[in-house]
Formats: sequence, C-alpha cells, structure tokens
Amino acid sequence: MSVRAVRDAISLARPVLGEAEERRVLEVLRSGRLSLGPLLGEFERAFAGKVGAAHASAVSSGTAGLHLALRAVGVKEGDEVVTTPLSFVASANVAVYERARPVFADIDPVTLNLDPEAAAAAVTDRATALLPVHLFGYPADLAAFERIGLPIVEDACEALGANDADGIPVGGRGHPAVFGFYANKQLTTGEGGMVAVADSAAKERIDSERNQGRAPDMDWLDHDRLGFNYRLSEVACALGLAQLERLDDLLSGRARVAETYRQMLRGVEGLELPCEDTGRIRRGWFVFVVQLPRDVERDVTVRALSERGVPSKPYFPAVHLMTYYREQFGHREGEFPVCEDVAARSIALPFFPEMREGQVEQVAEALREVLGR
Ligand SMILES: *Cc1c(COP(=O)(O)O)cnc(C)c1O
Repeated sequence: MSVRAVRDAISLARPVLGEAEERRVLEVLRSGRLSLGPLLGEFERAFAGKVGAAHASAVSSGTAGLHLALRAVGVKEGDEVVTTPLSFVASANVAVYERARPVFADIDPVTLNLDPEAAAAAVTDRATALLPVHLFGYPADLAAFERIGLPIVEDACEALGANDADGIPVGGRGHPAVFGFYANKQLTTGEGGMVAVADSAAKERIDSERNQGRAPDMDWLDHDRLGFNYRLSEVACALGLAQLERLDDLLSGRARVAETYRQMLRGVEGLELPCEDTGRIRRGWFVFVVQLPRDVERDVTVRALSERGVPSKPYFPAVHLMTYYREQFGHREGEFPVCEDVAARSIALPFFPEMREGQVEQVAEALREVLGR
C-alpha cells in the first residue's frame, strides 16, 4: 500500500495528540522524575474538578481502578456482584479477582445498559455490590440502582463527559466511579485510569492499595495491608493533563461525528442507531455502535465493509458467553436474550474526534450499499 493510501485509510479509533502532549511529556523526561512526582496529584485534582468529584485516584488502567473500587466498597470472597453481560470483560473480571461471583442480569433494549428491574431480581442475600456500566457513554439509570440499596461501583470507563438523568456529571454522584484512559477512550494516557470518589477515606484506601499497601505516613518499605502495583507514571499523568485541557474539544468533536452519522444513517431500514439523549441525559460519546438488521449476516457485512476500506468490528460480545465464563460459571446461550440479540447484531463503526465529514459519509455510504438499502 502506498504511503498516501495508508494515511487516508479510515481507522476505527484514533487519539488526538499534539504539541501540548509533546511539551508536557518532554518536561517530565527532562525533570528526571518518572513516577510518584508532582503531576500525579495535579492530574487527580484537575480530573476530580472536571467530573465534580471530591477526590480522584489515578491508577494504571480502568481495570485496576475497578478492582480497587470494588475492594473499597467491601466486596470479598464469596460475595456476589450484580453487573451487565454487555460490557468489556473487565467489568466482570474484577469481581473474580476478589473471588466474588459476577451475577449477570439482562439489559434494557433501548439504552443497552443493565436493566434495574432485572438487576433487582438477581440480587440474593450474598450480593454486596452493584456494578452498572455506562455503556457506550450512555449513563445508566443510577437513581433506580440506588433504590436497590446496595453499594454501587460505576464503570464509567466509556462515559467521560456524560451527564446522568439528574444532570449530574458521571463521576460526581458520590459512588466510586471508574474511568479508563486506554488509547481509544475520550481521554487517553496510553494506558491508565482514574477512580473518582466522594470521601477521603476511600481515596486513602485506594491510594494505599495501588502502591503495595503503603500507608501515607509510613516508611517507604513498611506496609499495613495487602496492595498492588497499580500506579500511574508521571509520563502518563503529563499526557492526561494535556488531554484534560482539550477535553471539551475532544468531546464536542465526538458529538459532532455522532450527529453526522445519525443524519446519514437515519431511515436505513432495520438498522438501529444509538439511542438519543432524553431529559437531562447527555451521552459522553465513546463509540458509534449500530445494530444490524435481523436479516443480514454480520460477518458478511464486516467483510464487505472492509473490502470498501471501512474497518468495523463486532462490539461487544456477551461476557457470559465467553469461553472462560461458560467454563468457569456454566453460562450458556438463552440466559439473557436481550443482551444476546444485541451482541449478535452490533458493530462499531470508525469513530474519533477528528473524523472528517467526508469520512463519515464514506462509511455511511458503504454501509448502505453493503446492506442493499
Ligand atoms: C475500557 C474499559 C474498561 C477498562 O479498560 P482498561 O483497558 O483496563 O483501561 C473497563 N470497562 C469498560 C466498559 C471499558 O470500556
């Protein structure tokens, strides 16, 4: 392929990185301080301010953040954590890390988030936490989950910039809310994550457990609890600070691309687009996932799109039907019919803040053509 063809190929996702990121990273390199330096606290405070949380703890990934957040609300061996089967596998894995059992409940067919009624029905006396996911940046129905009365950990890894049904920014509601900074997320540090929390005790515990269980006033090599190495480097914090400064632009870029997709794909028979915001809800756009018409084969569609220079991928597969979850927990097809139907028909289309209108048009036209409508 020629250089030009490579440059013009549409990618599935693509971070926005510029001079601000380069300058900040260079400053860290020149400072010689690569971990546990001044940028850690700076990034945490700036991020907490952005989502309206009292505190935030930076960690090495969204998964690490979810793990520590579950520990912070007291999940332990033998417990059950009620969550959605339509998510990235990490949402369920983190319960398994603590030898707790992820208990799935079906999703809402419109929002694609965990259905609060199904979740309530799945609660047993062993359940000690709920782990709703703001899937594809669309806020989960937190008020309904709060009525169930169990501690909540929000998987907000896809929802930076979203507002919930009460108009509260995701992360600012008071439950531990976990964000992810992998390269395709709204804000990236390459790898990284953040746990937003309301109280200083939770922050202290998370800060300690990300750093081998060291108490803040303790000696460098003394440890008063079991911990992990889930630290985020100064280089990553520098990237995060630069990204945070341009976050509003990144988010509005994504929202613009989503709106263009919506206009160009509206009315394609049988194709389901992401649900629209209602009331005070504002989606924090992360991906543009469509559900294909029931009468087309997804694999054929993905291949035909690829032949037209348009990458796409099945997204998300149902977690309970993954090999590990089938083998370890005995899950099988038919348990969560709404989730399974959505998972079988969904594909993610190319989506990133700097995607040009012409590129969106190319994707939309290819999809219409491939679908024959
Ligand atoms: C990205 C993501 C995570 C965390 O992923 P990491 O790669 O560990 O940062 C967790 N849950 C969901 C739903 C995600 O999309």
